[in-house]
Parts: sequence; C-alpha cells; structure tokens
Amino acid sequence: MKFCSFASGSSGNCYYIGTDRCGILIDAGISVKSIKKNLKNIGVDLSQIYAVFVTHDHFDHISSVGVLGETYHIPVYSTSLVLEGVNRCYKVTEKLHQSRRVMPVGTTVNIGDIAVTSFPVSHDSSDCVGYYITTDDGSSLTIATDMGHITPVVSDYLLKARNIVIESNYDELRLLEGPYPLYLKERILSDTGHLANHVAAAFLAENLHLASWNRVFFCHLSKENNLPELVLEKVSSEFEYQGVRKEEIPELMVLPRTAAIDVIDFSK
Ligand SMILES: [Zn+2]
Ligand SMILES: [Zn+2]
Repeated sequence: MKFCSFASGSSGNCYYIGTDRCGILIDAGISVKSIKKNLKNIGVDLSQIYAVFVTHDHFDHISSVGVLGETYHIPVYSTSLVLEGVNRCYKVTEKLHQSRRVMPVGTTVNIGDIAVTSFPVSHDSSDCVGYYITTDDGSSLTIATDMGHITPVVSDYLLKARNIVIESNYDELRLLEGPYPLYLKERILSDTGHLANHVAAAFLAENLHLASWNRVFFCHLSKENNLPELVLEKVSSEFEYQGVRKEEIPELMVLPRTAAIDVIDFSK
C-alpha cells in the first residue's frame, strides 16, 4: 500500500492510497488542479483513481467531490447522510448524482485490491466516518480525523491497523487563551468537536502495548491553536510518563497543513 497526504487541516484534506493496480482518495477538500498536480508528482494519473471516500460533509473535506464525481465520473462513497449533506452544501456547486454511492457505516467496499471499511466517528457534521483500509500485500491503515473524542469503536480500528492517521487538532492552552470566540472554543472542545493534542498523545501512550503500529501520522492540525512541535512534545511526554522505551516508539510524522508529503510505501 502506498500512502500520500496532499493536504491536512481546515484549509483542505486529501489523502491518496494506492497499489500497483489502482488508487483511491480519502476526502477531496482541495482543488482538482491541486489533486492532479499532487498525483502527477507521485506518478499517478487521475484516471487511475477509482473511488473517493468522504469522511464527512464539512467543506474542507468535500470541495472537489462534485467535480471528481460528475465531471471525471469517479464514484463518491459515504453514508447517505454525508452524501445528502454534500448536496446541501451551497459551496459545493457541482452536486452528486450518478457518481453517488451510498456506503452504510460499518460496511466494506472493495476497489481492486483495496478494501475500505467505514466506522462511526463523533463529530458535528451530518454524519462522520473514519476508514480502515487494507490491501492484498497485507498493509493496513486507519484514518480517524475530525472527532471530539475517541470512542471504543474508533479505538478498535486504530488498534488493528499497522499505520494510523489520527487527528491532533489543538493544544488546549493555546485554544483556551487564543482569540477564538467562546462559541467556537466550546464547539472545538466538545465531544463532537476536534481532538486535542493531549488526548491523541495519551491514547497512543496508553495503547501502544496493545497495538503494532509501524507509523503514526498526526493530522488536521489547527493553524491558530497548534504547532507540529507541540504535538510531538506532548507525545514524547506521554510516552515518557507511560514508561515507553525508545525502541518501542513507532515512526511519528506530523502531516503538513497545505503541503504534500513524499509518498510512503507501507509494504517496505
Ligand atoms: Zn475538517
Ligand atoms: Zn469537520
């Protein structure tokens, strides 16, 4: 399984997952032009993308799904509530019709040699899901973003994948002391808001002995209330607190908000 993050955060989210046979996108919250450019940089053509899976109907995840679906005829999968939400979003000018594919939460869709299973995530959108993705080469990846807290179901899916993308949206002190209006702070802090650095870090440290993670990617960092250093500092201090030994620590990477990373082959 090859993985690449094209963008991660409130300005846009888009992840590529592919094999030698085919590719998919998780979310399409950046322009089609950027998607094409990013794909080209990793040697993939848009015609090799066989599906887009949408986590939820917030604009930073869906801005291009209409065009990808209707103009480029790429099937767009999510729950019926998310798909309805996409079509209700006034900023999405191209609505989903023939490209719309309802994928009930908890079901699995096979795209070539890629299997994608959705699971519920707690967030204040019409509906929100995470994805557990496996490929025939034995690689696995769980993507869990935009969530107010880690439910037992999310925990199960994070624990069963060898590679995970987990939200680490904000540093709590920065958010509380920052300029956001109270209603927005309360929204972010709530159980259906976003995940704090210390919550993601504590989850990793407390569950490391139950998991077999090769790589942990931190996603959806807030521009105003976070910094990559703060995420990694929090993780280090939680690992230290839990007595995690250096050799037990998986590879850690903070996904940049607007830049793409180099493509990573999980089978290597
Ligand atoms: Zn988002
Ligand atoms: Zn969201």
